[in-house]
Amino acid sequence: MDPVGVAAAAAPDARPGPAWQSKCPWGAPNTTSISCSLADVMSEQLAKELQLEEENAAFPEVVAVAEGPFITGENIDTSSDLMLAQMLQMEFDREYDAQLRREEKKINGDSKVSISFENYRKVHPYDSDSSEDEVDWQDTRHDPYRADKPTTTPRKGFVGKGKDITTKHDEVVCGRKNTARMENFAPEFQVGDGIGMDLKLSNQVFNALKQHAYSEERRSARLHEKKEHSTAEKAVDPKTRLLLYKMVNAGMLETITGCISTGKESVVFHAYGGKSATEDKVIPPECAIKVFKTTLNEFKNRDKYIKDDYRFKDRFSKLNPRKIIRMWAEKEMHNLTRMQNAGIPCPQVVILKKHVLVMSFIGQDQVPAPKLKDVTLSSEDMKKAYCQILNMMQQLYKECNLVHADLSEYNMLWHDGKVWLIDVSQSVEPTHPHGLEFLFRDCRNVSQFFQKGGVAEALNERELFNAVSGLNITADNEVDFQAEIEALEKMNEDHVQNHGKKLSMFSNDGDPPIYDE
Ligand code: ADP
Ligand code: MN
Repeated sequence: MDPVGVAAAAAPDARPGPAWQSKCPWGAPNTTSISCSLADVMSEQLAKELQLEEENAAFPEVVAVAEGPFITGENIDTSSDLMLAQMLQMEFDREYDAQLRREEKKINGDSKVSISFENYRKVHPYDSDSSEDEVDWQDTRHDPYRADKPTTTPRKGFVGKGKDITTKHDEVVCGRKNTARMENFAPEFQVGDGIGMDLKLSNQVFNALKQHAYSEERRSARLHEKKEHSTAEKAVDPKTRLLLYKMVNAGMLETITGCISTGKESVVFHAYGGKSATEDKVIPPECAIKVFKTTLNEFKNRDKYIKDDYRFKDRFSKLNPRKIIRMWAEKEMHNLTRMQNAGIPCPQVVILKKHVLVMSFIGQDQVPAPKLKDVTLSSEDMKKAYCQILNMMQQLYKECNLVHADLSEYNMLWHDGKVWLIDVSQSVEPTHPHGLEFLFRDCRNVSQFFQKGGVAEALNERELFNAVSGLNITADNEVDFQAEIEALEKMNEDHVQNHGKKLSMFSNDGDPPIYDE
């Protein structure tokens, strides 16, 4: 359907006008001999008559009306038929939806559990949502002309007296308003400037145009997405998509190629890096985009990591859940930076935007490096990996003052003959009230993985814990060991409460011994 082209198309024999005229989609009705103008096709009278017909007759007969007595002339443009048919279809769809709603109501009654027919509706929610600037005769609040023409309609609904009375239904006033509202359509939508012409659009024409403008907008958006983000689009919400588009538009990212991983708490995409706005920063050729999911309930169980992290303590209480999710992204960024500074192999932060973290991609040609759990290493590499990890855990603890807190073969990638640590949004400082417990859990994962993997040198989890933390917990069984860890944590908490600072065992004076390969 192309309503703006109707006038021009309906006048095939019209003389070509001057350049400005051919640009204006409304044409110049006065100078051309149009057999059937848009105004005729769209007239309110016609619409009313159609409505009547529709009420009295069956659907196919209504369509036939289009060729009936209302439109005369030989070169009737078929696109106007299409428009009529689509308008009728809309009516039909609305009826259908109303019926659905009635059925929905009937089925649900006043039961507490209800079912929804939402997905079966014909008129897309987008259409009904956008109804705010649909012409509504009761509503003159959004009048874009109000500033220049303070001809407000008073409450009683009319101005003037006797035969000079102007009601809010006044055709001229409303027609002008509609013309002004046309400016709200998407910029690509050609409506012509109409400068110097006192255009008055009837409601019918305006609504049909608006409908068309929106569906065109959606159609082009869909096409665009299909081309560029075939997999990316479904995994994220519209706001995140906008953030990603902006990064591509700004040239920072070249293309977003697709999704690498969809986890419970994040979605990770691969992208080719673009050009940096500043010279001192180089964007890696391949990037990983980690989008922290904004579905709130999935993050509730992570509260314990961040709530007790003193770095975020002051902020936590004031934040809403959406902001807390941004804090996860922020935390990952800070932790990665610390690791980078210590020389631990990990993704390099490129940029953080709200809950979207862009970092360098570990892998090549869109293929992410395999997780340690998925790769089969020679026994030599396995031993090498173990030594490296032990070293990294110590560096992480000592130099970065961090405990990974989710360290396992799932969050270690094998790339370029070495292990890379990822997924550090939940990492905490050792003095976190549960920091040592998290460290012990990390140690258990690492020990078990490498002991099962046949690395004879692999320390058991308690030895590993002491080697990393520099503490000397002597308990020889897990239960006692954990009890001692918790006692230490409690001591530290009390100390923080009483003295406002951490115990010396956590300070950098008593460095843990760095494991020597
Ligand atoms: P989650 O919290 O969802 O586990 P991760 O940070 O572990 O998030 O990322 C999920 C997966 O995405 C990883 O297991 C890895 O396969 C991939 N991934 C994440 N970051 C990168 C990266 N920088 N380079 C390559 N792959 C990555
Ligand atoms: Mn992970």
